[in-house]
Amino acid sequence: MKIPAHGSCQCGNIQYRIDDEPLATYACHCLDCQKLSTSAFSVTLLLQRRSFSILSGELKSWERATDSGGKAICWFCPTCGNRIFHESPAFPDLIRFKPGTLDDTSELKPQVHLWTCREQAWLKHSADLPRLETQPDLASAAAALAQGKSPF
Ligand SMILES: [Zn+2]
Ligand SMILES: [Zn+2]
Repeated sequence: MKIPAHGSCQCGNIQYRIDDEPLATYACHCLDCQKLSTSAFSVTLLLQRRSFSILSGELKSWERATDSGGKAICWFCPTCGNRIFHESPAFPDLIRFKPGTLDDTSELKPQVHLWTCREQAWLKHSADLPRLETQPDLASAAAALAQGKSPF
């Protein structure tokens, strides 16, 4: 990862900087990560708290119990709802940062998949799916659907 790394929430209200390489990077397929990402899994960077700075905006938080019996404090942008990081009172020097909000996500390198017992079945054959560099034209896709054809 290029250091310092910058990023923002989806609406731009929260801007932040990361000043050190992550201690670890992982993809987690647990149900909480599927809900927070509204996707198949979420990627997390384990960071030293001191290496993370909020440059603008003010986060809000909510708390939940974790499977391991602890507590997770989940910080998010109050305007757009983007999750920014999680922390646990038991590990005050660490944060679990959500790197989908980085300006440049091209250098993320997860080292492990966690909670594969929850992995969505389609991921195992996702490499076989058709691939588009961007997205289909919406009008063409709608016309194809209206004719009972695939929009892809
Ligand atoms: Zn998870
Ligand atoms: Zn936002």
